[in-house]
Order: sequence, then structure tokens, then C-alpha cells
Amino acid sequence: MLGRPDLAQIDRPSLESALDARGVPRFRARQIFRWIYKRGVTDIEQMTDLPRELRASLVAEFTLTTPTLAHRDISTDGTQKFLLRLADGATIESVFIPDTPGNTFCISTQVGCAMACAFCLTGRMGLARNLTAGEIAGQVRVLAGLLDLRDSTFNIVLMGMGEPLHNYDETMKALRILCDEHGFGMSPRRITLSTVGLLPQLERLAREPIMPNLAISLHAPTDRQRGELVPINKKYGVADIIATCKRFPLKKRSRITFEYVLLAGVNDRPEDARLLAKLLAGVKAKVNLIPLNAAAGIPFERPSDEAVDRFARTLAERDVTVSVRKSRGRDIRAACGQLIVEGQRKSAGQQLAALAFQNS
Ligand code: SAH
Repeated sequence: MLGRPDLAQIDRPSLESALDARGVPRFRARQIFRWIYKRGVTDIEQMTDLPRELRASLVAEFTLTTPTLAHRDISTDGTQKFLLRLADGATIESVFIPDTPGNTFCISTQVGCAMACAFCLTGRMGLARNLTAGEIAGQVRVLAGLLDLRDSTFNIVLMGMGEPLHNYDETMKALRILCDEHGFGMSPRRITLSTVGLLPQLERLAREPIMPNLAISLHAPTDRQRGELVPINKKYGVADIIATCKRFPLKKRSRITFEYVLLAGVNDRPEDARLLAKLLAGVKAKVNLIPLNAAAGIPFERPSDEAVDRFARTLAERDVTVSVRKSRGRDIRAACGQLIVEGQRKSAGQQLAALAFQNS
């Protein structure tokens, strides 16, 4: 059965066409967008500057779906984690990180993740399903409302649950909605997309009119090491990722961020730093080191501060721009790689995989 279209799930040009087809002037789409994104209404009836008959016909023909808050945790460092419930009952996590500098929303693009990186808790969940564009942008609607940040500027990082390029179309549609001048009017420069490096999708991204900042989860300088940590490396290896990054169109003065989770005794040796510096020579790069956020069931350890410093210094001495990501919200399990929602219904494929695993 085809339901009513969801206003949260429609970009403005499509809404204009949909209204046009119903004999409604196109400018009404701008008003509707302002109500949903700028003013945060979740009920079509609240769009009080629309004529009564139009509101009634919108209610009859469209829905407006908004994730609901299931739980909110506040860290001693000001970070907040939101558990949001979606229309089908699935839940996801979104994180608010204050003063980084500026306010940042870390949002999810999938329920779970299929990439199964060895050090990431979300990867343990497997992929339950993709989020829709409405659910991706909906996280921003909900957080901006709860935090009263609707009228201020904020940053968005697509670094929550999921691999954004594994849900390409809905992620890009969400970015178009978020950047719409009659919606949040976000600047793409305030948005960072973090990816494990799915190369065909990266090539597509390179041609998009809306171009977020790019972060690549590299984590190791060689295929041998990276293959152990990031399973998809067997398909898209280090050399191909670097070659694609070299071709990636960058605005003046901007660079690609290479994220590098530091794991004690695994990829944190000075030799690894030297290889990494060599690999990134000739790439407009900056490296963001992320000392592992350890968790039960993750078979790695966080390196000492000395090891992190030494790694950073080895890069800096080789003219690589490097920063160390401060871990935020660890006390509420909101830090990188700690987002996990227990008890999601598994997809058929996952259930089969789990069975095969039990029987092996
Ligand atoms: N799938 C995307 C988005 C996830 S972003 C990607 O892989 O880039 C989250 C970042 O946190 C990634 O760089 C990821 O590798 C990193 N991360 C995952 N688990 C972590 C952990 N336990 N400690 C620190 N960083 C982690």
C-alpha cells in the first residue's frame, strides 16, 4: 500500500512540483519549509499562515513524520546523547557536542552499520536498515529544537551510526534539505561527511553540487594493517583511496581529513607514523588522530598519552598537519565508535549470518 507522502522526506523542488500538480502555488513550499525547519513545527495544523483549506488538504494528502526522543544523556563535559525512536520503532543515536569550537551535531545515516570495523561498537550491530533523508535531517530538526539552537549556526558531522556513502542517495538528499535556503540554510562548509572510503560513491560525491567537507577513516598506512581493521579495505585498498583523494575536487585552502584511530601496539608505532606521512605526501591532507575509545568486547587498547604524542610529533616533523581528537562524552558512551543500540530487530540477512555463525 502506498501511503501519503511525508513532508519531512521531500526536498523543496519536489515539494514545489507536488504542490503545483495539486494546483497550489509553488511559493507555498517555501512557507512549509520554513515551518518545518526554521520554526520546528511537527504538525501541519500548526502552519498557521497557510489558508485553512490548504492546511486541511495538506493534512489529508501528506504526513509530517518526526523522530521522537526516547532517552537523553548529559555528560559531565556538556556532550549530550539522544536516543531517537523512528516511525517503525527502530532507534538511533545522535550526539550534541558543544564548543568544538561552535556547536556540533553528530548524526546517524543508518540503523547500525555493515562495515564491521574491528574497533567500532556500531559495527557489532550489523546493518538493520538505511535511514531515509527525512530521518537523517529529522535528527537535526529534533536536536536543534531540544537544544534551542534553531536560530544559531551549528556544524554537522555525519559520524554517528552508519556509513553515509553506503546510503548515498538518502544522505545526499538530506544534505540538500539541510542546505536549502528556506530550511536550515546550512552551508556545506559546516558539514563533514566521514567515510570508510567506498570509492565508486566517492567518485559520485566529487560531482555533487553540494559538497561537504570530506573525512576518510584511514586508520592504517598499509593494506596488510588496514585489512585487519577495516574489512572493506579488501575491496578498496589504501593506494586506490589515496589516488581518489588526490583527484577529489577541493575548494581553495581546504583539505581532506584522514581519521586515524590509534590502537596500542597495533598501528601506533613510529614506523606507522613514518609510513603514513609518506603515503600522504602530495595529498592536501590533515590527520585527525583518535585515541581508541575502549569498550567491553573491543579487542584493542587505547595507547598511552606518550604514544599518542610521539605519533603526532613524528607526523608533524614530516610536515603533516595533525590534530588529536579529544574524546567527548565517554561517561555516557557517546564518544566515537561507542554508539550502539541493543535489541534492534535484525534483517533477514543478518539473522541468516548469525545462524551460520552459531552453527559454525
Ligand atoms: N562510517 C563512517 C562514519 C563513522 S565516523 C566512517 O567510518 O568514517 C566515526 C569515526 O570514529 C570513524 O573514523 C571511526 O573509524 C571512528 N571510530 C569507530 N570506533 C571507534 C572507537 N572505538 N574509538 C575511536 N574512534 C572510533
